[in-house]
Amino acid sequence: MLQNLFLEMEEFASIRRIPIIRANERDVFCRLIREANAHRILEVGTAIGYSTLLLAKESPKDVHITTVEKNKKRAEQARSFFRKSPYDSQIRLCVGDASSLLTTLDESYDLVFLDAAKGQYVDHLAKVLPHLASSGLILADNVLFRGYVFGNESVPRRFRTIAKRLRKYIKLVQEIPGFETDIIADGDGLAVTRWERKAFHAEETRTFSACRQF
Ligand code: SAH
Ligand code: MG
Repeated sequence: MLQNLFLEMEEFASIRRIPIIRANERDVFCRLIREANAHRILEVGTAIGYSTLLLAKESPKDVHITTVEKNKKRAEQARSFFRKSPYDSQIRLCVGDASSLLTTLDESYDLVFLDAAKGQYVDHLAKVLPHLASSGLILADNVLFRGYVFGNESVPRRFRTIAKRLRKYIKLVQEIPGFETDIIADGDGLAVTRWERKAFHAEETRTFSACRQF
C-alpha cells in the first residue's frame, strides 16, 4: 500500500535526519499539485523521493517527473523507494549537481518544485526559465528559512548569505512579468508562483540578464 510506503519513508527520513517536506506543509502542497494538473514536472532536490512520490500521486495518471539529486546515496535510496511505488516508470532520476544538470534539460514543464540548496534558487530558476511550458506553477520550499528572511531578529552570521539570496529569489519571482507569487507561511515558507508565458516571452532576454545579476 502506498500509504505504508509513505510511512516507511517518513520513518527512514526521521531516523537519518533527512529533510523531507514538513508535515504541516503537506496538505497545502498536495492541494496545489492537484490543482496544477501537471503532466510534466521538474523537481530539484529529490532527497529520498518523498515529495517526488507525492507529486506523482497527486498528478494525472500519465504524469512524467524528472527529479535531480546530487547526493549519490540519497539518490540510491530514492530509487529503491520509487521501485516499491506504482510510479517507478514515470520518474526519471538524474544524479548530479542541479547547476550543471539543469542546463541539459530537453523538455518543458508545467510544474517545477525547487527544493535543493536554498542559496541556489535564483540560479536554478534562471536555468529552468527557458523550459517552462505556456503556463504553470513553480513551488519553492523553505523560502522563509526559520523566519530569518523577513523577521526582525538579527540573522546569525552563518545564515546571512542564504537569507539574502532567498530575499532575491522572492523579489525576482514577484517582478518577472507574467509571474504571480504568493508565499504560504506554514511550515518553512512555500513560495507559490503561477506564470503565463505569453506575458513574459517578449521580456525573456531581459529576464535572463536580470537573473544573471543576482
Ligand atoms: N524534496 C525532498 C527534500 C529535498 S532536501 C522532499 O521534500 O522529500 C534537499 C536535497 O537537495 C538534499 O537531498 C540535497 O542533497 C539536494 N541538493 C542540494 N543542493 C543540490 C544541488 N545543487 N543539486 C542537486 N541536489 C541538491
Ligand atoms: Mg524543503
